[in-house]
Amino acid sequence: MVIRRVAVVGAGIAGLACARQLVASGHAVTIYDKGRGVGGRAATRRMQIGDSDLRFDHGAQYFTARDSAFRALVDRLVAAGAVERYPNSVIGITDTARTLFPDEPRFVGTPGMNAMAKALADGLDVETSSRIRECTRDAHGWALALSDEVRTGPFDNVVIAVPAEQAAELLLPIAPSLAHEAQAARTSPCWAAMLVFASPVGVDFEAARVGGSSPLAWVAQMKRNSSAYSCWVLHAKPDWSRENIEQSAEWVADALAREFSELAHIGVQPLHASAHRWRYAQVQTSTGRPFAWDAGLGIGVCGDWRLGPRLELAWQSGDALGSEIANSAPPPRQ
Ligand SMILES: Cc1cc2nc3c(=O)[nH]c(=O)nc-3n(C[C@H](O)[C@H](O)[C@H](O)COP(=O)(O)OP(=O)(O)OC[C@H]3O[C@@H](n4cnc5c(N)ncnc54)[C@H](O)[C@@H]3O)c2cc1C
Repeated sequence: MVIRRVAVVGAGIAGLACARQLVASGHAVTIYDKGRGVGGRAATRRMQIGDSDLRFDHGAQYFTARDSAFRALVDRLVAAGAVERYPNSVIGITDTARTLFPDEPRFVGTPGMNAMAKALADGLDVETSSRIRECTRDAHGWALALSDEVRTGPFDNVVIAVPAEQAAELLLPIAPSLAHEAQAARTSPCWAAMLVFASPVGVDFEAARVGGSSPLAWVAQMKRNSSAYSCWVLHAKPDWSRENIEQSAEWVADALAREFSELAHIGVQPLHASAHRWRYAQVQTSTGRPFAWDAGLGIGVCGDWRLGPRLELAWQSGDALGSEIANSAPPPRQ
């Protein structure tokens, strides 16, 4: 077997799934991510308040496991202690009504959502704090630029596993037809707020999808923080997030905290309120095809924007691309 040298750009769930398939087939994979850790939008923010070490899953809240291969992986991660059942019951709230959401199996990383990604990254070669600025090819293969001075490579193949808008930027100079596909996908932004109250706030639900006129789309208690504090994550609706995308995090945290007080009839102020801007949060328009693979160029593309706005679909995309590359003819060596 010819061992391929593969660079994966993006250590979110799609990039990690792709890398695992390739490594399982004996290929040499290095993953680069601009973040300080792995997981991308499967994210957990840690916060010290008083003596308490608190965790907030401020990106993906929970994930489904409808696909049998993904469910088998999830079962293994549950057995390994990296994933557990989502502990909250979920309701829907509109301006006029409350409804119970269907109780399909929902999962989360444990102790935080990013634990799932950490488990997938176990044993892989991941370079964090490494933003890839461009990819170039010469007679030796692909090189990735981390800055004007620092390049890494050569690689036989490059996998781009980042949100569509960011993928389009990397692909345009090297693979215009793949870039155009990425340009056709759309991802909406989301402002997320994290609130800490000194004590339970008397809210009579654990998690809610919010419809109607509220700027909030989702509110959920971080029940797994074992402290006296009451911790909540709030997600704003896409339109509100878009309108306020350039506001400061402080302004957004205050605005969303006020909306939460109104929604849940809370009379007390949070001890702490902060916010995180997801410029690319949830896929609105996907391509409907699990991945793209240009065998001539040796470039593959995966991510949630291929199939839809769910962590499970990101995994399916990366896993399918990894199999495709592993099973395709090796590139001619110069
Ligand atoms: C607020 C919010 C709520 C969500 N709720 C849910 C939910 O409840 N259920 C669910 O199933 N899904 C949910 N999702 C969606 C889910 O998180 C995503 O579908 C999934 O995590 C996407 O994985 P990915 O690997 O495709 O992309 P990402 O997780 O975005 O990974 C891409 C990675 O690429 C890195 N990167 C980008 N550009 C570069 C570069 N130039 N160089 C190096 N690295 C780069 C990023 O740092 C990131 O780590 C939610 C997402 C958000 C933001």
